[in-house]
Amino acid sequence: MRKKTTLGIMGGTFNPIHHGHLVAAEVIRDEFGLDRVLFVPSGKPPHKYDNEIALPEHRWMMTVLATDSNAYFSASSVEIKRKGQSYTRDTIIELKKSCGETTKCYFITGADAIAEISTWHKTEDLSRLATFMAVSRPGYKLTIDKIDPRFRNCTHLIEIPALAISSTDIRKRLREGKTIKYLVPEVVEKYIYKNHLYQAKTTKAA
Ligand code: NAP
Repeated sequence: MRKKTTLGIMGGTFNPIHHGHLVAAEVIRDEFGLDRVLFVPSGKPPHKYDNEIALPEHRWMMTVLATDSNAYFSASSVEIKRKGQSYTRDTIIELKKSCGETTKCYFITGADAIAEISTWHKTEDLSRLATFMAVSRPGYKLTIDKIDPRFRNCTHLIEIPALAISSTDIRKRLREGKTIKYLVPEVVEKYIYKNHLYQAKTTKAA
């Protein structure tokens, strides 16, 4: 019998994408034998009104650049192109339609986000659509009993040491004029500086 296609869906704001995200996706791809991993930057992230979020076009371009060097990785613009909020349920349904209804999906994202899964859009559909991979940084404590009972059988908690890197810290470093070398792929670093993303606005001298 033919093995089912397995697809990792790496969901996040990616503001900006960094090496922690890439390591997490690669470790899970390898450990769970996934055929490929699609990185899906959120268009309009639900529950977010952060004026520090770079334009979707920039987050998309950085995701494309960062994933280019891994043959198992690619980027999807489904959420960037979709109007309205970026609901995970709609994304998984849309990706299953294009990849084949029998594709087994693994939705990978931050443990903080998965901890709130009971508040997500149409939660009742989600647990039958995918397996959830809640990745956390060292020191973050999430135990399965904190997860909505409907998701306990379809959620894996995985600590990723490389997630000591965080987008929040990278944005702070940029505002303060500090280096971000080795925290993000070099192509992403160049893109950030070229497009003046996240940096403090310089005022012209009088
Ligand atoms: P977030 O608040 O930006 O991030 C929450 C935490 O998770 C942060 O510490 C973040 O670290 C980390 N994180 C985010 N994405 C990650 C990833 N792919 N791998 C590893 N760590 C990750 O979360 P968000 O981006 O808004 O939401 C995460 C995903 O859940 C998105 O795909 C979003 O669309 C989905 N979501 C769906 C619903 C819904 O359907 N209603 C509601 C909420 C979230 P960094 O800042 O370093 O990335």
